[in-house]
Amino acid sequence: MSEEMDIGCETLRIARRQGDCRVLGPGMRAVVWFQGCSRHCPGCIAVEMNRSRGYSVESPASLCEWVLSCEGIEGVTLSGGEPMEQDVDALVRFLSLLRASGRNLGVICFTGYRLEELQASPRASILPFIDILVDGPYVDELNDGMGLRGSSNQRIHFLTPRYRGLEEFFHGASARNVEIALHSENKLVINGIPGRWFASEFVGKLETRGYRISFE
Ligand code: SF4
Repeated sequence: MSEEMDIGCETLRIARRQGDCRVLGPGMRAVVWFQGCSRHCPGCIAVEMNRSRGYSVESPASLCEWVLSCEGIEGVTLSGGEPMEQDVDALVRFLSLLRASGRNLGVICFTGYRLEELQASPRASILPFIDILVDGPYVDELNDGMGLRGSSNQRIHFLTPRYRGLEEFFHGASARNVEIALHSENKLVINGIPGRWFASEFVGKLETRGYRISFE
């Protein structure tokens, strides 16, 4: 896929991406954490993704090319930050290219917006490309450790039949695994949706073993 295909298209802001994540949906997935969110939910677990520095800018074609380079994935998960606050045309272009690739990749999207808000806005054009939409603002007190969602007010919409039959996975506790990786500069990265007290319990357990860490 060439960059020339994207002449005239807008760009996407990428805070982080990983091509072999196993905790943000069924199977192994490419995950894109988009940069930026205007919602400011108290207790947001994605503060790092909302900083106005340290992100990359990608064309829809180059982001699609990266996803397609990830081997053995069942699909792609869009998170953030707020995917629905990216340029709509660029996001539609990215998802159109993915679909046109013929790889038959599932698409899961986390958003702080409600489905009904999206349906009534120009962002509605993104929805036909999404199999699962997890919607609504994160509410820290409602983080019950269940389901592929941050808090119990959020809803898991099966917008296509692709993941029908996996309702138990999406709503159960097993969807709440996390991955922890040690990156360069001794930086710990946590993927997945941690329980409400995960960070403090994790830090406490490490401290009892003589390790001191902190989360930004
Ligand atoms: S919608 Fe998500 S990324 Fe945005 S502030 Fe709320 S929890 Fe954070």
